[in-house]
Amino acid sequence: DTDLGHLDPEISDAITAELRRQQGTLEMIASENFAPTAVMQAQGSVLTNKYAEGYPGRRYYGGCEHVDVVETLAIERVTALFGAQFANVQPHSGAQANASVMHALLRPGDTILGLDLAHGGHLTHGMRLNFSGRLYNVVAYGVREDTHVVDLAEVERLAREHRPSMIIAGWSAYPRQLDFAEFRRIADAVGAYLFVDMAHFAGLVAAGLHPSPVPHAHVVTSTTHKTLGGPRGGIILTNDAEIAKKLNSAVFPGQQGGPLEHVIAGKAVAFKVAATEDFRERQQRTLDGAAALAERLTAPDVAAKGISVLTGGTDVHLVLVDLRHSELDGRQGEDLLHSIGITVNRNAVPFDPRPPMVSSGLRIGTPALATRGFDREAFTEVADIIATALAGDGSEETLAPLRERVRDLAARFPLYPNLDKGQ
Ligand code: PLP
Repeated sequence: DTDLGHLDPEISDAITAELRRQQGTLEMIASENFAPTAVMQAQGSVLTNKYAEGYPGRRYYGGCEHVDVVETLAIERVTALFGAQFANVQPHSGAQANASVMHALLRPGDTILGLDLAHGGHLTHGMRLNFSGRLYNVVAYGVREDTHVVDLAEVERLAREHRPSMIIAGWSAYPRQLDFAEFRRIADAVGAYLFVDMAHFAGLVAAGLHPSPVPHAHVVTSTTHKTLGGPRGGIILTNDAEIAKKLNSAVFPGQQGGPLEHVIAGKAVAFKVAATEDFRERQQRTLDGAAALAERLTAPDVAAKGISVLTGGTDVHLVLVDLRHSELDGRQGEDLLHSIGITVNRNAVPFDPRPPMVSSGLRIGTPALATRGFDREAFTEVADIIATALAGDGSEETLAPLRERVRDLAARFPLYPNLDKGQ
């Protein structure tokens, strides 16, 4: 058997180059993280060879005795982690988890009520081109124009007016916590399912640093690769046995064929890690880092440039920078930070006057750097670098020293040193 470097040097070189990029830059895309090498070992294992359609103990293929152990451990660990009765760990991604939930509980043409994409919702919560927008009748709620906080009065008004079959709470770009009990009250008032997509903040929930939606929602989904820090993938949780049955058949055979048992093994490892004190401490640093970022980005030198932070701060792992009143647009902000070695993504802000490809916002997150070991002092340093870059004149004289400071931080917090051996 030939190793990758010999069999396929082009792919091998691209992987090595990506490792160098991750090591040498500061990753602040809010939905990204660094999976532990143990997770990647599980993902890169012989489990990739195995077909296992069905569920542990009820498979449509022979030879599943070991993958049954893997999947059962993943289920046991994730239900314990989030205090849920039932879990499906097979969704290949967050989007497929969400598709399965809707497939299980809705019929095409039913009405769903979710957070507007332009106000921080996800594509799968009803965007026009997404399956959710094509199959279902979508009504969207938003944030208030004065506070940029989700308007529960509007949610209730829309729910009473449109009588949705499902209300979706959850977000991809929102810096505050949602009131899940209140969402459930509204859902119950109109006979809707409450579906919470905690993809972004699941790691904070696991660490006990964010309210859990599990006691309130009929169904909860998450990705496993954002704050949760595992392999790319999805999960579904519920406390309702009837819903659990429907979810299982919606995932397989409804949406998927064979589960990715190598990824499920990686998920199981990540759930084990997420139950530790180290993980809790890391999530605390994630929150501390985001708070430090919000504080620095609301300082007078930044405000003088017309740059602000949506809602004035954050309760979670990300900050949304508002560039609507700045000369810089989202794309320029993203490129500027990229030019000094910091990776973020531009993001539309609510009521954005610029088109989505340009946008007037930046979404900046701290999970990946917290995984790298960043503490409050290091986050304060990176916050100052970002603020200085955004508030500066963009000249090479301003940017060169910032690039140096980024390089120093990257060197102080080595990433995947074990993967450098033998290279
Ligand atoms: N749900 C939310 C809230 C997300 O932010 C995302 C990803 O960005 C997803 C679902 C989809 O996850 P995936 O990219 O794994 O399909």
